[in-house]
Amino acid sequence: MRFAIVNLGCKVNRVESDAITAALLAAGGSEAAPTDADLIVVNTCTVTGEAEKKTRKAVHRALRANGHARVVVTGCAAAIDAAGFEAMDPRVETAAKGALLEELAGRAVSTRPVLRVGGAFPTRVGIKVQDGCDNACTYCIVHVARGRAWSRDADEVIDEAVAYARAGVREIVLSGINLGSYCWGDLTLAGLLERLLAATADQATSGEPCVRFRISSIEPKDVGDDLVALLASAEGRVCRHLHLPLQSGSSKVLRHMARPYDAGEYCTLVDRLRAAVPELSLSTDVIVGFPSEGEDDFAATLDVIRQCAFSKIHVFPYSRREGTPAADRVDQVRPEIKADRARRLRELAFRLRSADRARRSGTSELVLVETAGKATTESYFEVEAPAGAVPGALVAVVLPTPPLAVQVPAK
Ligand code: SF4
Repeated sequence: MRFAIVNLGCKVNRVESDAITAALLAAGGSEAAPTDADLIVVNTCTVTGEAEKKTRKAVHRALRANGHARVVVTGCAAAIDAAGFEAMDPRVETAAKGALLEELAGRAVSTRPVLRVGGAFPTRVGIKVQDGCDNACTYCIVHVARGRAWSRDADEVIDEAVAYARAGVREIVLSGINLGSYCWGDLTLAGLLERLLAATADQATSGEPCVRFRISSIEPKDVGDDLVALLASAEGRVCRHLHLPLQSGSSKVLRHMARPYDAGEYCTLVDRLRAAVPELSLSTDVIVGFPSEGEDDFAATLDVIRQCAFSKIHVFPYSRREGTPAADRVDQVRPEIKADRARRLRELAFRLRSADRARRSGTSELVLVETAGKATTESYFEVEAPAGAVPGALVAVVLPTPPLAVQVPAK
């Protein structure tokens, strides 16, 4: 059976799509272009109104790709509106991911990735350790689509990581919808990482660096003293790079978003992190033009962002998502104001990124070689890979002075 997987959305979806691919390969299938596939799986995203539109387009494209393929729609958008997708065409079916994997693989499997035995490993592998979310941010539908938070058995996660490390993987990304809420018995995310470090410490050929772990994204309220201490002491085996969603630097807007912190608490956390881990690279997500956001709120966001000196900012103009409390608010921000704030924030983000990269010039970092000539630093900057370095290897590089920034990207 020839199959194609269309992946949309977040890193957790990516890991789950890889699991679906691995299960189909293990069941004797082969990957093909959508035009030649007997089965097209669309792993959807519904985080914003925009994401929902992209998802529907992807399903239409899958239907047009060829006239006979079975089109299976799974993931967050399918969980929210299965009937809407099934009404698109008789060839469309919807399925929950766990059930889909069981059916495709012909046996019961979890939505965890399966080692592609004998196949080429991607340079970086994701392990999903958590799913669902117990928060209720007012712009978000993901906690509805994914349900309550749950965590994977720590022993199962460790076995999987050890298997990847033995197979030569040098960077493992821990992912989850609300990763920081990981909890297995009395084990927190920091506790899980400590066990992972210990279990994989002997999985390196002599002279080579050990596998390292990266935290995909963590909510500010979940960064505890144990995690800060681990980042400070693990000598880079837990990448000194955190993606710490801010969403707004205005305490008023954060309250309207039902985010469980205010701007001052966020800045205090960043100060604490920077004091303990001076090399830390911080990235974030910011929503601009959330309902009720005035110019003074946006100015507060810019202030917080300057203070936190992020190395990367994902800027999202607020996009109404039906079914969320924020979508029904009457104080929506006009599109041209949202676009203007997004542009101003992206300019600041670009300047801060250039400044952080320049600050790192002349320092040494272990980089993960992605392809011939291209590598990613621990701090998550792209650099040139040393000549002859093999994709997937971790090698030390002294960061060169970057070329002068010539333009601010439009998006
Ligand atoms: S933390 Fe908030 S934004 Fe993130 S998945 Fe949970 S409810 Fe959604």
